Amino acid sequence: MVTPLQDDLKQQLEQALKARKQLEDTYQSQFTILAKFVSRLSLACKGLDIELDNKLAKLRLELARGTDLEKLLPLVQSLSDGLKHLESKNEQDIRKLQHGLKEAGQLLQKQRGLPDQLRRDLRALLSKVNESSPTVHAYLPHLTDLARLYQNALTAKAKLDTEVEPDTDRYGHICRQISVELTNLLSEMSFAEQFSNDIDRIRQSLMDHLGIEDLLNACLNTITIIVASINTERQSAQHFLLQLHNTLEQVQKSLVSSLSQSSSLHAKLSQLNAQLELKIDAFGKDSKNATSLDQLKSLVNERLSEITASLAEKEQLEKQERDLMLNSLKAMEHRLIELESEAQQFQKKLAEQKFRSLQDALTEIPNRAAFDERFQLELKRYQRYGTPLCVALGDVDHFKSINDNYGHSAGDKTLKVIAKALKQSLRETDFIARYGGEEFVILFPETQLSELEKPLNNLREKIKKIPFKFKNKRVPITLSFGATELVNHDNVQAAFDRADEALYEAKHAGRDRVVLKPKA
Ligand code: GH3
Ligand code: MG
Ligand code: MG
Repeated sequence: MVTPLQDDLKQQLEQALKARKQLEDTYQSQFTILAKFVSRLSLACKGLDIELDNKLAKLRLELARGTDLEKLLPLVQSLSDGLKHLESKNEQDIRKLQHGLKEAGQLLQKQRGLPDQLRRDLRALLSKVNESSPTVHAYLPHLTDLARLYQNALTAKAKLDTEVEPDTDRYGHICRQISVELTNLLSEMSFAEQFSNDIDRIRQSLMDHLGIEDLLNACLNTITIIVASINTERQSAQHFLLQLHNTLEQVQKSLVSSLSQSSSLHAKLSQLNAQLELKIDAFGKDSKNATSLDQLKSLVNERLSEITASLAEKEQLEKQERDLMLNSLKAMEHRLIELESEAQQFQKKLAEQKFRSLQDALTEIPNRAAFDERFQLELKRYQRYGTPLCVALGDVDHFKSINDNYGHSAGDKTLKVIAKALKQSLRETDFIARYGGEEFVILFPETQLSELEKPLNNLREKIKKIPFKFKNKRVPITLSFGATELVNHDNVQAAFDRADEALYEAKHAGRDRVVLKPKA
């Protein structure tokens, strides 16, 4: 007999069993979904590591069999260890991939004759590669880009090889060296106004990568201009000498003619004097022989009018002589004044030429020749008086990219602005020159190295703050400086080399900085 209590309990038990069955079913279906998901996930990881693959295969098998979770735990633990190992391997792989991409990119950068756009793309890619990413996958687009750049480079090279004679490649670096030397030479020499357009054209052409033939043409054109320039100078000197010669000849002629005229006048005068003496003599004798007063009176009248006429003639002759001398002196004076003004002009021209030969045509500050002269002078002063002397070299950072990206005339304007700003920021006693290209050299007399850091950093900051704008974009331009102080028994070359080493260090340390090289 079933009591109502038993019946109630039975019902409760049945409900509990049903609920448990439902729970078990839910759990089982969730487990199946999870097991399938883990299987799929494990398949996605396949191929990373063979050991991990084996373990994952085993896990998939066990999950398919519906193996008890507890039994799976050791396998899960070992899988977790394997994944940790894989993670650190993954990090190593990322570093290796990053390094490999960087090296491959840099190798491509070193190739000569690459198109400018390709170089720019490569630079942009390398800066992206330098940013670290958490996964290897992130580098895949970079790898694709690099492969594309390599392909483009190969195509460009192939094109170059068919277009350019094989010699160009062989002599490429010599051509570049000659281009640089010729550019420096052109900036050091002074040319008359009439040649400035031709010189500018040559300078601009030297900015491109010229082949042997074009380079030879540039050299030939330069020589032609130099010869024409020398000829113009010589002609101008010859013209002056000719003028001088003509003037002296005229002066001599007019002197000779006035002398001969005056000597003929002189002869006439002496003749007149002799006649006068004779007349006075005759008058004396005649007057002694005169017998009456009337006779004496008429004699005196007659002789006196003769003598007066002779004296008038004499006076006339003397006046002629004076006028002649005066005119000839005036003519000579006139010619000499002309000659003097010509000589002054010639002197001025020579002084201008000397000034031009010591001034850089582009930036209008002293050039390398002027610096060499001044450095010798300051060195002597330093040796004589022992007051400190420093020399600093400043070089524009990545200047080539200004030319490459915004054109040669933008580069030229930049150099002008930089030179002006540098000059304005220096003391009267400091001396700045354009040493060549985008390199400036400064002498700081009566300055110790320890006193130089601040002014050089001020110069650096000043240039950095100039709001250069190219293609409507603000482009900051920086300078690196290397400086040293003169030491006992130093010579110009040794001191300059020390400053150059310091500049090299500044460049290598990342540019936009000042490096001071103390006395060795
Ligand atoms: P770094 O920071 O290492 O100094 O790099 P950079 O690009 O400044 O140096 P690099 O020596 O490679 O290039 C200097 C460039 O300056 C090359 C040349 O075309 C350019 N240059 C030299 N003289 C002149 C000039 O008178 N006018 C112009 N526009 N460019 C010049
Ligand atoms: Mg530079
Ligand atoms: Mg340089």
